[in-house]
Amino acid sequence: MAMRRLPRLLKTLSLGAPARSLSTEKAISSVIGEHTAKWMQDTSKKSPMELINEVPPIKVDGRIVACEGDIDPALGHPIEFICLDRDEPAVCKYCGLRFYQDHHH
Ligand SMILES: [Zn+2]
Repeated sequence: MAMRRLPRLLKTLSLGAPARSLSTEKAISSVIGEHTAKWMQDTSKKSPMELINEVPPIKVDGRIVACEGDIDPALGHPIEFICLDRDEPAVCKYCGLRFYQDHHH
């Protein structure tokens, strides 16, 4: 009995809504595409990733560094404690700054 009612229920669900959500998805993806393209086409400027990679790793005297981001505190960077036990420079996950431990012993 329930099986016989199912096709009609599906038909009711497919009215209107799919067409609208499809066009909304299309609009969103086109906005994302244009936005990304806008940033990618200007090759004269460097991307944020390239800029942060140009900042040399900061030498730290100790095993742990507290990174607060740049000098501007309004960027939403919480204090991030980074352990420097590894050999390669540690990267702050918030601002991308790199730190390394100064082995002077
Ligand atoms: Zn940071």
